[in-house]
Amino acid sequence: MTAPTVCVIKGDGIGIDVTDATLVVVNAACARVGCAKPTYIEIKAGAGYYAEHGIDIEPGGEERAGETDAIFLGAIGLPSIRHADGTEISPHLRLRDRYGLYAGIRPIKAYPNAPQRLADPRAAKIDMVVLRESTEGLFYSAAVHKRSRIKGDEEVCETLRITRSTSEKLHDFAFRLAKKRRDRGSSGRLTCVDKANVFTSMAFFRKIFDETAERYPEVERSYNYVDAMALDLVRRPWEFDVMVMENMFGDILSDLAGGLVGGMGMAACAEIGDTIGLFQPAHGSAPDIMGQDKANPLAAILSGALMLDYLADKTGQPAYAEAAAAIEAAVDRGLERNEIRPMEFGGDMGTVAVTKAVLETLAATA
Ligand code: ATP
Ligand code: MG
Repeated sequence: MTAPTVCVIKGDGIGIDVTDATLVVVNAACARVGCAKPTYIEIKAGAGYYAEHGIDIEPGGEERAGETDAIFLGAIGLPSIRHADGTEISPHLRLRDRYGLYAGIRPIKAYPNAPQRLADPRAAKIDMVVLRESTEGLFYSAAVHKRSRIKGDEEVCETLRITRSTSEKLHDFAFRLAKKRRDRGSSGRLTCVDKANVFTSMAFFRKIFDETAERYPEVERSYNYVDAMALDLVRRPWEFDVMVMENMFGDILSDLAGGLVGGMGMAACAEIGDTIGLFQPAHGSAPDIMGQDKANPLAAILSGALMLDYLADKTGQPAYAEAAAAIEAAVDRGLERNEIRPMEFGGDMGTVAVTKAVLETLAATA
């Protein structure tokens, strides 16, 4: 069996530290379950690279990234270094567009001893996924293609674009994910989040959801309007498992859901396309704490676990899914036993110490 190849973009600020931490943990997990560690190809990119070289990614980097099995990204962007027009340095957005990374995955899980915002004891059971379409929706004209229609100083029009081809892929992905999660002990309930009572585009989104559902009769499905979903995420989040939605709704609700279970420190993220997946912590480069060994690497490490799970499917080698599960179990157990105590949650451990604690728990976990 050949080892998968992974393109590593460390980026800026704490992105560099949390990436280093992740690769050490990923390698240790692979060794533990007896599979070959990925072969890494590092590509330089980000605001720091732009400041030095005048381009935001090394020459040929975008193409070479696409030739690997997966991309791992630390964090990109620094407020002090921007393009002349004031926009941020963001080569990763081009990667998303170029490789059609339509399926944005944000797992939302209540880990033991991570900050808990809801008093209800059932909140400790929160374990769900926000699946956000990431290439079209309301972001299509603005962020992806910079095609907002501006009429002088009088009017601006943005377009909410929903296509059949992307929606079919997205909903198919959602049903497969729900099935997979049910096989692993979750409820596997799938909720289509939209505003089909008002928008034609959303009714179309839901229609394709229903068409796809015919192929997955075993998956329990439900519907929620986005406003009601926001309410339910605060009122009874433990009842949801997989929620699939348009880009902008996903942008908002994934942050809301992330806030319920401790904020950025545990927020892993994946963006998956037809040929490649990109994995990164949901947080940014955090320049306020860079170079101080204060960053919590757990969001990045959990993104590394998502990457291993993806590589298992992609390479047909289930050992990588075992490696992913070993990382998740180590994080869970380490937090529960208070062996992992990130400064971000008021603990005494910086990036290096948290990483060491994860490695120790990983080694001790059967
Ligand atoms: P971006 O626009 O790239 O998402 P942002 O402006 O949202 O960036 P972040 O870089 O995510 O900002 O940081 C937001 C706040 O959260 C900062 O105070 C930062 O120190 C803190 N933070 C972010 N990530 C971590 C982490 N891994 N560990 C500890 N604190 C973090
Ligand atoms: Mg942010």
